Amino acid sequence: MKKYLIGGILTILLVACATNPITGKQSLNFVSNSELFPSSFQQYNQFLTENKVITGTADAKRVDVVGSRIKAAAEKYLKFLGQGQYLQDYRWEYKLVDNKEVNAWCLPGGKIVVYSGILPITQNDAGLATVMGHEVSHALANHGAQRMSAAQLQQIGGVALGAATSGKSEQTQQIFSQAYGLGTEVGVMLPFSRGNETEADKIGLTLMAIAGYNPDDAVSFWSRMSAKSGGGSTPEFMSTHPSDATRIANIKSLIPEAKAIALKVGVIK
Ligand SMILES: [Zn+2]
Repeated sequence: MKKYLIGGILTILLVACATNPITGKQSLNFVSNSELFPSSFQQYNQFLTENKVITGTADAKRVDVVGSRIKAAAEKYLKFLGQGQYLQDYRWEYKLVDNKEVNAWCLPGGKIVVYSGILPITQNDAGLATVMGHEVSHALANHGAQRMSAAQLQQIGGVALGAATSGKSEQTQQIFSQAYGLGTEVGVMLPFSRGNETEADKIGLTLMAIAGYNPDDAVSFWSRMSAKSGGGSTPEFMSTHPSDATRIANIKSLIPEAKAIALKVGVIK
């Protein structure tokens, strides 16, 4: 009896795994994009109604231009990997909001928000591409969905796994809010694990290179971010993205591969 039960749970766990379209790695994921995206888009729209979106300025235009290039790079890269269909339900948007927090994020389905407070640190298009490429990579690699799945597993325990996969939208919505932490007014994202951060750095550098930016400039951006620490309060982006010497050294070591992949995939002119 016990043996069957364990077998059953294992089967559900296998079914509940999703493949990362870029690395090919399997990860725990009970939440399909069709379940996840409506919650994501709803939270995103609510955030936009509660915050001031900047339009028509030179900065807003830069966010749009760089975002469009990162999107085109993601499409090109996934197509190259034979995973082009992965993005079919994405509804890309790039918004600049008037908020002094040093922050940026991308929700599942391609909803990217850049806070005006991060612009003095991004400084230029390559800096913006570093941030947007990194945030898009979290979404592409399903890092948020993994966190939601882990939360579900924690909440329901092993016994009711089957029920979790049946997809109750209200429950999904609730867990989405908890997993992303976006219920708060400022829209602070919960930190990702160190492993997820490294993965997003790696994929982000590749997207940046395919989009036609120089990944070497990512090192300058992270160094500027690092210099921002110490004295006063820690910026939100810093608290979730520690820009220490280890991270910067790791980013440096990832750059040659990002450039090599971009050459194979083709750099957007
Ligand atoms: Zn990150």
